[in-house]
Amino acid sequence: MKLKTCCIFILSMLSSSCGQAGEKSQPLIVGSDKLLKYYEKFKADAFGIGRVLPERDILIMFGETKTDAFPLRVGYCAFTEPRVVVINEEWFNNASEENKEVLMYHEFGHCVLDLDHTTDCNDFFHIITCNNPKSIMYPNVGWRGYFENRQWYIQELFSNKKYFPGLGNSNCIERGHEHGR
Ligand SMILES: [Zn+2]
Repeated sequence: MKLKTCCIFILSMLSSSCGQAGEKSQPLIVGSDKLLKYYEKFKADAFGIGRVLPERDILIMFGETKTDAFPLRVGYCAFTEPRVVVINEEWFNNASEENKEVLMYHEFGHCVLDLDHTTDCNDFFHIITCNNPKSIMYPNVGWRGYFENRQWYIQELFSNKKYFPGLGNSNCIERGHEHGR
């Protein structure tokens, strides 16, 4: 109930910010401070390679992510207006900094950049070498090797480069933290 009240409050803030005649308003990015800082970092990384993010209101919040259909889901993007990124707080509080950034950037890939999942990373070569996935839009989180190859993943997110240039470190993809979409 408390969460619901909070959402309604934030959504009413969003709607009250719209509709000022003749002015192009800045997108409203609201939510938990713990999560908002990843949006700021994401925006700075985009800017760093010359990409300006679409102007889109977005709510970034902790909330329930697991359902009967997605019992292991730890985050998702709701394709609503405004877009909503929902993150499982318990998972987040126990995750490594690397995994937190992977999940946040992945969800922003959906909610901000309209990217879909790719399973290109799931090919034979990467599986037999137990490597990190080629794409941050791989549908599972919890893998390692992101920080070592961060610059590649940033390029991949913001410039649509398709192919992982090298093997990176021999890190295994850990199954079990699916996150839906
Ligand atoms: Zn996803």
